[in-house]
Amino acid sequence: MKNLGYYNGKTGLIEEMSVPMTDRAFYFGDGVYDAVMCRNNIPYLLSEHTERFFNNCALLGIEMPIEKEKLETLIKTLVKAVDGEEKFVYFHVSRGSGQRTHVFDGGTKGNLCIMITPQSVGDIYEKMNTCLVKDIRYKLCNIKTLNLLPSIMAAQLSKENGCDEAIFYRNGFITEGSHSNVSILKNGVLITAPADCFILPGVARAHLILSAKAHGIKVEERRYGVGELCSADEIIITSSSKIARGVATVSGREVGGRDPENLHLLQTDLLNDYINSTNL
Ligand code: PLP
Repeated sequence: MKNLGYYNGKTGLIEEMSVPMTDRAFYFGDGVYDAVMCRNNIPYLLSEHTERFFNNCALLGIEMPIEKEKLETLIKTLVKAVDGEEKFVYFHVSRGSGQRTHVFDGGTKGNLCIMITPQSVGDIYEKMNTCLVKDIRYKLCNIKTLNLLPSIMAAQLSKENGCDEAIFYRNGFITEGSHSNVSILKNGVLITAPADCFILPGVARAHLILSAKAHGIKVEERRYGVGELCSADEIIITSSSKIARGVATVSGREVGGRDPENLHLLQTDLLNDYINSTNL
């Protein structure tokens, strides 16, 4: 198949699937999602993503319609139906179905939706152009909810400015990207915003930190500002779908390019882990 949609046990081409109007995802975006890359039908770091998915659902009191191990098995089975070497697996669960009322009754199981499409991580060594956008999101950024309006508007603004990603700042500090985490290298130290309520604790970010530590690169999880971003030796954008990319420009200004060795080392380490973990 060229792609695959799954909704509560039904499967088909994504464009032919439909979701009932009573699904709370439809009118409230009341749900949580996660996403993994998959290569050779092996979903990469799947258990780390399902762990976050289940934790996020627990934080919002969403009742899961499936156990963690069964979801992993289901994903591993479904990916086989889609053509291609590399695929992107998106999955979300909504708080279930009912008439549109803000309050919800307990005891309603969530609705599970999965979408699998061919997608490659691409050339991770190609640098990105970015633009700064004010972070107007709320304080639940650590939860991967379906409510993504500020991120969508920022990503669109970035595209309209010829950029690949928007970098959010809040009160002068860098938080993250519209759909990525942002870290910097300065004087041989990896600096990344702390995992608080203002960023999503990305799986790729966690692996970037592990890789830095394994190579003796000091890691500082702390706030850093727009000035530090623009004067960084390198800026690194991480996400599961793009792995780790350097940055060429921020809002039209040339940045980075002063620590290519460490940038390349970290990128190659993460890429190799992806390749080696998904080799047949
Ligand atoms: N931050 C935001 C807001 C995101 O949407 C994403 C990915 O979608 C990330 C960070 C990166 O997370 P991960 O590395 O787990 O893909």
